Amino acid sequence: MSIKDVFSLNEGAEVTIRGWVYRKRELKDKIFLVVRDGSGIIQAVINKSDPNTAGIASKLNIESSLMLTGVVKKEPRAPGGAEVHVRSIDWYYIGDPFPINEDAAKADSEYLLDVRHLWIRSRRMWAILRVRHTVFGAIHEFFRSRGYYEVQGPMFVSAAVEGGATLFPVKYFDREDVYLTQSSQFYLEVLIYTLEKVYTVAPSFRAEPSRTRRHLTEFWHAEAEEAWLQFDGLLNLLEDLITYIVNKVLEERQDELKLLNRDTKILENVKPPFYRVSYDEAIEILQSKGLNIKWGDDIGADEERVLTMQFDKPILLHHFPEQVKAFYHRNDPSRPGTTLSVDVLAPEGYGEIVGGGERIYDYEELLSKIKKFGLKPEDYDWYLDLRRYGSVPHAGFGLGVDRLVMWVCGLDHIRDALPFPRDIRRVKP
Ligand code: ATP
Ligand code: MG
Ligand code: MG
Ligand code: MG
Repeated sequence: MSIKDVFSLNEGAEVTIRGWVYRKRELKDKIFLVVRDGSGIIQAVINKSDPNTAGIASKLNIESSLMLTGVVKKEPRAPGGAEVHVRSIDWYYIGDPFPINEDAAKADSEYLLDVRHLWIRSRRMWAILRVRHTVFGAIHEFFRSRGYYEVQGPMFVSAAVEGGATLFPVKYFDREDVYLTQSSQFYLEVLIYTLEKVYTVAPSFRAEPSRTRRHLTEFWHAEAEEAWLQFDGLLNLLEDLITYIVNKVLEERQDELKLLNRDTKILENVKPPFYRVSYDEAIEILQSKGLNIKWGDDIGADEERVLTMQFDKPILLHHFPEQVKAFYHRNDPSRPGTTLSVDVLAPEGYGEIVGGGERIYDYEELLSKIKKFGLKPEDYDWYLDLRRYGSVPHAGFGLGVDRLVMWVCGLDHIRDALPFPRDIRRVKP
């Protein structure tokens, strides 16, 4: 049975569990094994006076795989409040000495990244991966319950969505104009013409040249596009989505958050309405805090950190100037020079987790913006076609799922938010 189910049994119940040795401690008359499986950990007690079990137990080392049978006993000093008194024990595999001492390990060390394939067994990664599982599930539940169709875009593409600088070229037979996708947005925009409301959860790839706490070269992107959706509707949608995900994690993953020492006060505070802060207001706030920033500058990670520390909920930062947002963002007809754009900033210094906005749907407007940004219209031929044939007002966004997991788990670095992080230096394991 699963280890977590043992804790709901009465004292004296007989159980058989399978798992791995997580901790081992030997006293004069007893051997304590903490055993872990996919569901949790439990302490097993072996009496040294029983030669059958003690003989095997003394041979086991950390991460040996085993099966044991025993009797449940309540024990307030044991993790979870119960332990198993072992009657029989059998091993499947006794390995070499395990190279990681979890108690001594410094969570963000390069060594732990080198041995990520083994560090994955740590309690910390176990907890993060379970939160991550809940986050991905919640995203699908949310969209499907609201009538969005799940779709898939290609990973090989031939044009930039987010600017050429971070494109990854791919050796694609004899061609030199093929890249890994930076975002599925343009393909989702194609698909709204047949399905109206679409979403995808897929990797995006960006050749991020510097190592930061929040950039990966391969990240998971939850993107949605919706026909007829306007700006206010988009802001409400983002509030609802993020609230849904955070609440799901709070409902299902209390134990994991506790294990990660996550202070959940701010997470519990996540419900609509979020703070709506215009770019103009943000610049004023940042200037009043002494930052050297002026209207027209981009708001980067440092500014976002300062900004989010002023608020106890996520911020919907909206109406960025035209020049700091990609060409497809629609200008606000009532506020010249600004776009109907929004970033969601996670509180506690985390910053941007979502970028979105209304898309330009007028053909001439899109064409002139492409030229104004110094881009080649022929690179966007099929994207322009969407505006030539039956164009429709629409809006959408991209949520960085790893960043969301990073914030919800309270991690210092995005690379701990997923099992196999990729950055400028690391493509192994
Ligand atoms: P940043 O300003 O942090 O570089 P961005 O504005 O370039 O992000 P968008 O193009 O708006 O990012 O992409 C949508 C979302 O995807 C972002 O809000 C973020 O959550 C996530 N994201 C973007 N780039 C990365 C990356 N390199 N690693 C992890 N997540 C990313
Ligand atoms: Mg970027
Ligand atoms: Mg940004
Ligand atoms: Mg962005």
